[in-house]
Amino acid sequence: MADGLRFDWELSGSGWATCRIGDGIAQWKDVVSYCTDALADLLHGVAGLYGPTPVQRFSFDLEPAEARWVLRGRGSDVDIAIHHFPDMSASFDAPDLDGALRWSSAQPRTRLGHVVVEAAQSVLRLHGEDGYRAKWVQHPFPVAALQDLRRLHLRHDGCALPHDVATP
Ligand SMILES: [Zn+2]
Repeated sequence: MADGLRFDWELSGSGWATCRIGDGIAQWKDVVSYCTDALADLLHGVAGLYGPTPVQRFSFDLEPAEARWVLRGRGSDVDIAIHHFPDMSASFDAPDLDGALRWSSAQPRTRLGHVVVEAAQSVLRLHGEDGYRAKWVQHPFPVAALQDLRRLHLRHDGCALPHDVATP
């Protein structure tokens, strides 16, 4: 199994975020628009892996392309796949496999939960809630979604990596 999953979410300009993911074998980067509450969708999607629904889907709007993340829980592991569709307004109901597979990896759920929580906390530390809202305009920082995923990760994953003190 590929090891060393890394993930980063960077507010790269007003209304845009750069999303990077890599597993030591391949990396992928998307520039995501504020048309959707993208960071909240990501946090809710990963948090969903701790519930009864083992497949989670959410999409980032790349204006106009769609980047659809599909997370399939398999025991303590997760298959992560990112599919691209050329036009988000047209592909909303399209099957996953109609989109081009841009990146995929199998990872322990604990690692995915950990890096997503850490990335979101970094965003909050760097910008604060006011700074985030100023850049993401349409949506506030998803405080509750971050707290929820952090709680699930700490409670259920037995993660041995260090964790920052929760912010806020
Ligand atoms: Zn952790």
